[in-house]
Amino acid sequence: MIEKVLIANRGEIALRVIKTCKALGIKTVAVYSDEDYNSLHVKQATEAYHIGEAAPAKSYLNQEKILETILSSGADAIHPGYGFLSENSDFASKCEKNKINFIGPSAASMELCGDKMQCKAAMLKAKVPTVPGSPGLVKDVEEALKIANDISYPVLLKSVFGGGGRGIRLVNNDKELREGFETVTSESISAVGKSAIIVEKFLQKTRHIEYQMARDKHGNAVHIFERECSIQRRNQKLIEQTPSPVVDQKTRDRIGELVVKASEAVDYTNLGTAEFLRADNGEFYFIEINARLQVEHPISELVSGLDFVKLQLDIANGEPLPFKQKDLKMNGYAIECRINAEDTFLDFAPSTGPVPDVTIPSGPSVRCDTYLYPGCTVSPFYDSLMAKLCTWGQTFEESRTRMLNALNDFYIQGVETSIPLYKTILNTDEYKSGSLSTDFLNRYKIIDRLKEDLKKEKIEKSDAALAAAIIYSEYFKSRVQNSTPDNSNWKNKLG
Ligand code: ADP
Ligand code: ADP
Ligand code: MG
Repeated sequence: MIEKVLIANRGEIALRVIKTCKALGIKTVAVYSDEDYNSLHVKQATEAYHIGEAAPAKSYLNQEKILETILSSGADAIHPGYGFLSENSDFASKCEKNKINFIGPSAASMELCGDKMQCKAAMLKAKVPTVPGSPGLVKDVEEALKIANDISYPVLLKSVFGGGGRGIRLVNNDKELREGFETVTSESISAVGKSAIIVEKFLQKTRHIEYQMARDKHGNAVHIFERECSIQRRNQKLIEQTPSPVVDQKTRDRIGELVVKASEAVDYTNLGTAEFLRADNGEFYFIEINARLQVEHPISELVSGLDFVKLQLDIANGEPLPFKQKDLKMNGYAIECRINAEDTFLDFAPSTGPVPDVTIPSGPSVRCDTYLYPGCTVSPFYDSLMAKLCTWGQTFEESRTRMLNALNDFYIQGVETSIPLYKTILNTDEYKSGSLSTDFLNRYKIIDRLKEDLKKEKIEKSDAALAAAIIYSEYFKSRVQNSTPDNSNWKNKLG
């Protein structure tokens, strides 16, 4: 049984894991870089160890140092969070060899999932539909050109090792393909140290719909419903919701069965996510498995009532799933907004620095997973995600309204945030009516509409300021008049 977990991560996800461990009486070991001396995860864990310099390669990605810390701290398990080492099968394998319980799938399964090509091949074998594209890796630009012309533009070039929206390029013609090939290769190498490219048909007007899957070490598998993550920028998710407005119970069951098959096809254990694209005609195409806890897992927790980190620990302990598919019920509607430190108007460039003051929203069915506190710093070395703001409602409208109120209450001083963008999106008729697609921002000219909204807000604010000034001056005048003795009658009396 797991008694002490080292969390090889930082920020909100490290805090998330600590919360469940505390609730279960499990000890936690935090690790931190030079940049994170004053971070909350260091304060909240049972123990904390410094592991190196700010640059991820020198700390949170330093496998030797982390393994050494696990062994010296006496931790019996490791939770990798997301990003960093979470999907590194070499690292998972080193943990296995050292008899450290890695909270996630086996190294072999992770390796299979981490290679988009091999994983697609496994899906085809299991009769799970995948996006049409090259039958295997393309060996050079010339072969990519040939395939692109066969399946016809637009196509996507994808590094099979890519992730987090990196290592993907949309190309519309031969010239763009030649350029794209270079960029994808270099992006993938700088992110994960290797690159290998596949060509995929670019599906237009699609939705990103993913399924939470859970499978124990005894082969019992379930899906815990879908999440729609179509609101994206640069192939990265911004806003997620569950249920998806286009998934009815029949579809949920049908794709859910495919998801269970997918988890079996790669002998997956623990919690993972099967991602699909849904074409405009309603067809679902598998794209990849994320072999870890997903950023957006809280919305699935809100509608299922489960604690996913507890479920992860139980599965890692070898316990059978405590429920069957038919026991799982979806309740209500949940939305997540990823509150990023970024400047929407500078092409979403990171905005970092000290945060002298912050107000975290709260209220009925409002959940905010965050590392922020007044006086903290948003570091330029790591991901721009500062907080995950989630709301739940009995209806979608209730959830949406709670989100808008929470976004209004959220105050973060010192850095630019994606909050204004989300207020604009949540107020559009397109979002309200569930007309979602992965090109939502461009399709509906959201950035222009954000500019309009901000202009209006500025005018309203200056109008309000003007009104306040007028009221004050009237009040001041009346005070002055009232306090000035009225001598007129007295003068009259004098005659
Ligand atoms: P999710 O749906 O869980 O957000 P993402 O693919 O967006 O999945 O990845 C989550 C986070 O993990 C990202 O914000 C990013 O920081 C990190 N990440 C994932 N894959 C990579 C990668 N290949 N290189 C660097 N960072 C990555
Ligand atoms: P990553 O590993 O970076 O998460 P994915 O393969 O999951 O890469 O794709 C990320 C996003 O890119 C998807 O959510 C979707 O918006 C877009 N995308 C990926 N493949 C396709 C495709 N074949 N057609 C259209 N869009 C795609
Ligand atoms: Mg993905």
